[in-house]
Amino acid sequence: SELPSDSNLENSRRQVENAAFSYANPKKTAKPEVLHVSQEMATELGISEEETKSEFFKNIVTGNEIYPNTKPFAMCYGGHQFGNWAGQLGDGRAINLFEVEHQSKNWKVQLKGAGETPYSRTADGLAVLRSSVREYLCAEAMFYLNVPTTRSLSLSLSGDTVLRDVLYDGNPAYEKGAIVSRISPSFLRFGSFEIFAARKDTENLTKLVDYTIKHHFPHLGAPSKESYINFFKEVSERTLKMIIDWQRVGFVHGVMNTDNMSILGLTIDFGPYGWLEGFDFGWTPNTTDSQHKRYRYGNQPNIGLWNLYQLANALYPIIEEVDPLNAILEQYKIDFEVQSLQMMKSKLGLVSSDDDDLNLIQELEDNLQLVETDMTIFFRNLSRFVDETTAFKLIEAAFYDVENISDEVKNRWNTWFKKYANRLAIERISSEERKEQMNLVNPKYVLRNYMSQMAIDEADNGNYTLIDELFQLLKKPYAEQPKSEKWFAKRPEWARNKVGCSM
Ligand code: AMP
Ligand code: MG
Ligand code: MG
Repeated sequence: SELPSDSNLENSRRQVENAAFSYANPKKTAKPEVLHVSQEMATELGISEEETKSEFFKNIVTGNEIYPNTKPFAMCYGGHQFGNWAGQLGDGRAINLFEVEHQSKNWKVQLKGAGETPYSRTADGLAVLRSSVREYLCAEAMFYLNVPTTRSLSLSLSGDTVLRDVLYDGNPAYEKGAIVSRISPSFLRFGSFEIFAARKDTENLTKLVDYTIKHHFPHLGAPSKESYINFFKEVSERTLKMIIDWQRVGFVHGVMNTDNMSILGLTIDFGPYGWLEGFDFGWTPNTTDSQHKRYRYGNQPNIGLWNLYQLANALYPIIEEVDPLNAILEQYKIDFEVQSLQMMKSKLGLVSSDDDDLNLIQELEDNLQLVETDMTIFFRNLSRFVDETTAFKLIEAAFYDVENISDEVKNRWNTWFKKYANRLAIERISSEERKEQMNLVNPKYVLRNYMSQMAIDEADNGNYTLIDELFQLLKKPYAEQPKSEKWFAKRPEWARNKVGCSM
């Protein structure tokens, strides 16, 4: 209880001032049913497989029972949404249950979709099966891809129905309600700090920063302007690292508002996210962002920086110096150039350095956007590159309209392959070694949008086997899984333009 709380126990909606969180109780549900458990995550928490099958576990992860001597709460935070300050947002449908300490790690356990909190504003605090399947699967998939991320523990049905859309005929469309229990060392966001700065509440801002450093950045030492500056520096570095990893695997978050930016640099809030199929810097899965495409794939690194500016503004009142903050933001740009090049080189299996590497990568990115070319299949197959005469055949599988590749496109690829072959010639590692290294950074299996859609459609009909199949598949995204070769395939035509939904 180092953090100020709002002691009002009701879940009623309100502006919550002078507090970092409010107590809020999950809603009891009609017929809770656990659909899937990440046993690996459960084991991290010290929960056995037998325990995850118990009534008690079910009741806890669906909000139907409160763990003895704990007090669930919802966190207060603000945020910049699509470039504008949005005021108080907070956990509108997330409720923190408790912390677990196991094997010297500390984890926060949170329910998503367990009912109203003071921060629910005009919405219901609930989640539907489709968005919950997407969040549940993707968080764990990210973990196994080695991308910093929040985790999933369980996916459950509440047994209640939830109203989301009204159909064209005016009839309400009810959907199955669901609850995900998710796990992170911390769910604090940039917006958790921004809200106090916006309210000119420097006292609580200081408390929150001190708490965060003490619990999550203890190596930065006792509270001081210096430790606050180093804190910002480390958040900046972690944020960049996470985004470089997103770029590497072709993940597009879709809603990089500052309330969705973890202070630990973890991927959080799996809403309208998507995976690149055709490589395209301009692509966003978020249909509400289709005009400006603020959160498009190629803009994620810039948005990370923009969000860090907002965090710098929020921390300014306790640092009171502009120069060190600016220097850190400048460094982000420099580090981005270096790390982005490094990441792309690793995708190409380049270990040594050559002055022309940047050009080689630039030309590759241009080529990848000539015609719709599947990013995952392209990079995975490129690891089998032998020479420029056989290369085109190797990447044909990545073209969506392979029948209509013009000679010009073919020529441009063959030119690039020739350069790539020359470049590989100055590397010292064998093709076999290169292939192995490339396959550690270029996943074979990612959670393509159509795959979750298929799992959702089946789940809607009461069949959960595909959820488990994808879950198992995505635990080894870099491995060859001959029995699952069907998931190493281009998006089927029926799934074109079919994207997930945030709610
Ligand atoms: P998001 O765009 O998912 O980051 O959500 C933005 C804000 O809206 C956060 O404060 C969420 O907690 C809140 N929110 C989103 N969906 C719901 C919902 N169904 N009920 C209550 N609050 C919600
Ligand atoms: Mg959010
Ligand atoms: Mg969300």
